[in-house]
Amino acid sequence: MNRKVAFYTLGCKLNYSETSSIGRLFNNAGYQTVDFSDTPDVFVINTCSVTDHADKKCRKVVKEALKISPNAYVTIVGCYAQLKPKEIAEIPGVDMVLGAAEKFQIVDHITDLTKNPKTLIYNQPVSEANEFIPAWSFGDRTRTFLKVQDGCDYSCSFCTIPLARGSSRSDTIEHAVEQAREIGRSGVKEIVLTGVNLGDFGIRGGERRDRFFDLVKALDEVEEIDRIRISSIEPNLLTDDIIEFVALSKRFMPHFHIPLQSGSDKILGLMRRRYKRELYANRVAKIKELMPDCCIGVDVIVGFPGETREDFIGTYNFLNELNVSYLHVFTYSERENTPAAEMKGSVPGSTRAERSKMLHILSDKKRRAFYESQLSKVNEVLFEGDIKDGFMHGFTRNYVKVKTKFDPVLVNELKTALLTQISPDGDVEITESEEMFAH
Ligand code: SF4
Repeated sequence: MNRKVAFYTLGCKLNYSETSSIGRLFNNAGYQTVDFSDTPDVFVINTCSVTDHADKKCRKVVKEALKISPNAYVTIVGCYAQLKPKEIAEIPGVDMVLGAAEKFQIVDHITDLTKNPKTLIYNQPVSEANEFIPAWSFGDRTRTFLKVQDGCDYSCSFCTIPLARGSSRSDTIEHAVEQAREIGRSGVKEIVLTGVNLGDFGIRGGERRDRFFDLVKALDEVEEIDRIRISSIEPNLLTDDIIEFVALSKRFMPHFHIPLQSGSDKILGLMRRRYKRELYANRVAKIKELMPDCCIGVDVIVGFPGETREDFIGTYNFLNELNVSYLHVFTYSERENTPAAEMKGSVPGSTRAERSKMLHILSDKKRRAFYESQLSKVNEVLFEGDIKDGFMHGFTRNYVKVKTKFDPVLVNELKTALLTQISPDGDVEITESEEMFAH
């Protein structure tokens, strides 16, 4: 069988790791993975429900796919497929829609590639998606996203993820360690630990068996991997013992991404987040006390219902004073079947956009200040394989993006470098350094 399959992924890192794993299922069944433009027999589109206009994006990708290969079999999986299977089934040219509990059985479902006017839908209630299916992204040799947790038991009032991915469940520590070793042996230097609510790691069969900190300690012993990053962790789950451990670890990078969402306790309450802003500020202070050069990224949502000008200015000032390195700014948008969508005090679109713009500018300022604080310092860089205008990029341990003239020998190598200056495009220029980097 010489069948070809191509993938398109929308959304988060978890989706990327799952697309890679689905790709391996196809390869094991004899399919060859090809580029989207390479006239595949099957297209798999892994969708997201968090991104705005998920439906429009999905529609567009299907249209493009069928332009390339009009007779190809089109399958849609992912969060949007779980939440709105019927809506997707109405998109012309879609042959099959698979929900959260079915997506990893995709190869078994695709038996006949004949296009059928009636779209097949396999979509059980999300409560059926209670098994943990491991996944990791492959293909990019430098960095791999390793999924160790899925689903979420929190009920943030704006979020559809628990509806799309089900309840919290995790891999075992033994299996995650085994996968990390395997990934390391394949030549990958850096793993990004990924999950929906990663800090909640440790639930299996509906019961808590381990804690995230146990996983961190176990992975720290994996000699095949040089670097491990924690993709994102809720502030209430980022405990002192984790911070203290990372501060002394050679493998866990001094880099945290911690969702804040709002700097107003009133809004945090409406969002049903499980902390107040004081806890967040304490987490940041603790990290910076132990790791002054640690990079800290922040997720923040603007325009949540009830967010007054004062609330927003409070968030802005809070972030301005906080010693963090960059922001990921999300503009609130109503999601069906969420409590927030029913709340009073909707913020006009233009105000949402204005607030988003202000925080984007603040983020640029924060990033630049963080980068400036790193100049004249020596750090270890892992170089990536990209090439743009004759330059290649890499990241320091504390996630400063650096650039240097492309040299194929450097790809996927760890080198010590001196950070010299910020280039006009915002990346940091480096020179090689003989100095040993002290971890
Ligand atoms: S912690 Fe909140 S925002 Fe994150 S996935 Fe769970 S419900 Fe959604």
